Amino acid sequence: HSRSVDLYQRGHAVFPGGVTRATIDRDPHPIYAARGEGAFLVDVDDARLLDLNNNFTTLLHGHGYEPVMEAVSALLSTGTCFSNPTRHEIALAELLTSRIPSVERIRFVNTGTEAVMFAIKAARAFTGRSAIARFAGAYHGAYDWAEAGQNGFEADDAGRRKARLAYQGAPNAVANDVLVLDFNDADAVEDALTANADRLAAVLIDPMPSRAGLIAPTRDFIDRLTAVAGRHGILIIADEVLNLRQSFAGASARYGLKPDLLVAGKVIGGGFPIGAVGGSATVMAVFGGDRRSPLVSQGGTFSANPVSMVAGRVAMEAATPAMFDRLEQQGNRLRAQLAEIARNHRAPFSVTGAASLFRLHPKAEPPRSWAAAAQTPGEAATMRSLSRFLRAEGILLPHDAAACLSSPMTDADLDQVSAAFDKFLASHR
Ligand code: PMP
Repeated sequence: HSRSVDLYQRGHAVFPGGVTRATIDRDPHPIYAARGEGAFLVDVDDARLLDLNNNFTTLLHGHGYEPVMEAVSALLSTGTCFSNPTRHEIALAELLTSRIPSVERIRFVNTGTEAVMFAIKAARAFTGRSAIARFAGAYHGAYDWAEAGQNGFEADDAGRRKARLAYQGAPNAVANDVLVLDFNDADAVEDALTANADRLAAVLIDPMPSRAGLIAPTRDFIDRLTAVAGRHGILIIADEVLNLRQSFAGASARYGLKPDLLVAGKVIGGGFPIGAVGGSATVMAVFGGDRRSPLVSQGGTFSANPVSMVAGRVAMEAATPAMFDRLEQQGNRLRAQLAEIARNHRAPFSVTGAASLFRLHPKAEPPRSWAAAAQTPGEAATMRSLSRFLRAEGILLPHDAAACLSSPMTDADLDQVSAAFDKFLASHR
């Protein structure tokens, strides 16, 4: 592991903790990627790993997908960024608005994190309210309220200064006005939304939050959430940054959720940085209006850069209903195999997920809530040792996040995952 060890030392000299972003595996050191080849990642020491991470679920077609590489190469000779709009952003916008039912209008940014921020701004501007309800354990980006304080402050009863946010639609919105609820708990959601109706701008919901266990929403939960939000004029923001990869029309369409705003990222950039916020023409109108005073200002030096736009369009054109069907069949088969192997060994492991996504849990029963998915230190250690074992078997499985398939993976590749899991359980009992 000589090159990895060298990079590990250099990384620690320049990055706090040795890395510039969270890595899925640091044990005994991060896997330093040298290149990707379809379903596989090759590290700097020439280890070849079936990549079930795909850059945190970004790559639907695996690494180095030829049509994307060719389109990007052709584009590079024309320049990489302009402050002017290009035909490429319109083409990707047309593709996305034509296939995602709740997205009539769209704006592009650079990351999912940014897109969530813009969706929250839009919801506050549209409703004139400030609070946001969200679900415990769900991840929506790692950021602070970057604009807090930019527009002055107001003092609370104790004289403490609270930052004021910059929304023309909701001039008194203050930072950190957040209500945290339990996913799939329809009773609690009805009560909380009803009691806070006059101050809630939106409910922010990932239809299958990965960090909270990758647990499917129940139909009853979606229906009652939709009804109570609609009754009180509270917008629904679907965060599909990760789960858009579930189907051709996205995850909301799949689970019967009809969001007012929808946030996307990851797969829609074909392997390049991207984020997007879309929604009904009525709500998205807050981004339009007079050039000098839209309700919500949106900048972004690299927003809608042609490289991401072209890569995203080519990747999404290749993401056909047939491709999603095949990934779903493979995902169903793998999830069933893993669950059966656990049962055969009478091992406390279960599987959640849908379509091309799955998560293994060190629990006898598949968890049905965020609380049930939470791991004891011992369970977390079991997942790390599974991930380390699989790595030695040539498989890259994130130990604390959603794993995913990519279209170049064959049934035989996935059988290797099942075989390696079987071997782990046989040797760790
Ligand atoms: N929302 C969800 C559901 C995500 O999974 C992520 C990224 N893992 C984000 C938001 C943030 O996206 P980005 O990393 O592109 O900022």
